[in-house]
Amino acid sequence: MIIDHYDIVIVGGGPVGMALALGLHDSGISSLLLEARGLPEKDEDPRPLALSHGSYLILQRLKVWDKLIHNTPIRTIHISNRGSFGRTILESQDAGVPALGYVVNYHDLFSAMHAQLTTAQSKYIAGALVTRIDTTESSGNVFFDHYGQSKQVTAKLLVLADGGQLTKQIPDINYQSYDYQQWAVVANIRAENKQTGIAYERFTPDGPVALLPNDSDFSLVWTVAPEIVKRITELNDRSFLFQLHQHFGDRLGKFIGAGKRSAFPLSLKYAASSVSQRIALIGNAAQTLHPVAGQGFNLGLRDAYELTHEIIHTKNVSQELGAPTMLSRFHQKRQKDSNAVRIFTDTLVKLFSNDNKILNQAYGFGLSTLDCLPPLKRFVARRMIFGAKG
Ligand SMILES: Cc1cc2nc3c(=O)[nH]c(=O)nc-3n(C[C@H](O)[C@H](O)[C@H](O)COP(=O)(O)OP(=O)(O)OC[C@H]3O[C@@H](n4cnc5c(N)ncnc54)[C@H](O)[C@@H]3O)c2cc1C
Repeated sequence: MIIDHYDIVIVGGGPVGMALALGLHDSGISSLLLEARGLPEKDEDPRPLALSHGSYLILQRLKVWDKLIHNTPIRTIHISNRGSFGRTILESQDAGVPALGYVVNYHDLFSAMHAQLTTAQSKYIAGALVTRIDTTESSGNVFFDHYGQSKQVTAKLLVLADGGQLTKQIPDINYQSYDYQQWAVVANIRAENKQTGIAYERFTPDGPVALLPNDSDFSLVWTVAPEIVKRITELNDRSFLFQLHQHFGDRLGKFIGAGKRSAFPLSLKYAASSVSQRIALIGNAAQTLHPVAGQGFNLGLRDAYELTHEIIHTKNVSQELGAPTMLSRFHQKRQKDSNAVRIFTDTLVKLFSNDNKILNQAYGFGLSTLDCLPPLKRFVARRMIFGAKG
């Protein structure tokens, strides 16, 4: 078998793995991206992604933004708690940016990044299912199936951006996990009131429900209990929209149209250490979060961005790339951001997902207080946009 050698092999060509491959393009460092799928069908992954202003800036640098024709700016975020009067409104002015973020469809982002990989002539193999990885002190080995053929490549550094499947093969990577006992139901929704650039995040005892502006309509991310997810997704449009109206309230008038429904189980999973011998984890492989406040991809993109920076600034590639000092520096740099975002999203879900009337009034009061404190609002908005560096 011919074994090719690279400086870096990236396993997993989701949006985070692709961002790293694009960042390394033109750096003089040889890299290969292995992705199990081909280009997904448009309706294969229907989730909307709220990209922060910080992600917009990174995607611009990677020359992906111009290819994302369908993006909808979020100018305002309206946060409320069902059963109490309090609410907070975050405006783009609070954070000093033209838009707090942009809503795109996962599929469109995937296609735009894929197109840019082709333009940049980055080395990319689709249909490559990685089956085994192992490492020595000096390099990593990757074994994959490519259309029935077994292949192997080696590299100084292996980057896992596969969502966290292959880490089972690395003995010293341990995950902490928590099952939220919630599912996210996702669908396009048309309301009587057209979208005006406002993203709605409403907390309820069953979990948060978000309506994000997407084109002229909304993208729904509705958290429901596992025992009712099947029933909710299988309701006919009329009953589904009625239930949603009952749940969300009247802020957007009646709901008048619903697209195909899909559902995702929600859990928290994060690696205590995002590095191991000759290995770095990024994106969902390092941490998988609850979608509340739309932080997972934004955080993963910052993982890819920081790792690119670390790799490009390696002075002596043959000695330093993938060495323990470089990996531990990367881990230290990412830890603060990853911990802060994880604790923020996890706390939001756990605090607000309860039906205690007194606590709910207190949280409503908290939201109103936040609304009256511009410096605190600015702090929250910038944290959501730029992570720990905000
Ligand atoms: C309902 C929902 C809504 C969300 N909304 C938001 C939001 O608004 N904002 C936000 O920032 N985040 C959001 N997220 C989170 C976001 O979707 C993820 O954080 C993001 O997709 C992670 O990207 P990734 O590239 O790390 O992983 P993935 O998107 O999971 O990609 C992993 C890739 O690795 C490939 N792969 C896996 N195993 C192998 C293998 N053995 N060999 C080769 N390739 C392999 C897969 O085919 C896949 O392409 C949401 C998540 C959900 C579920």
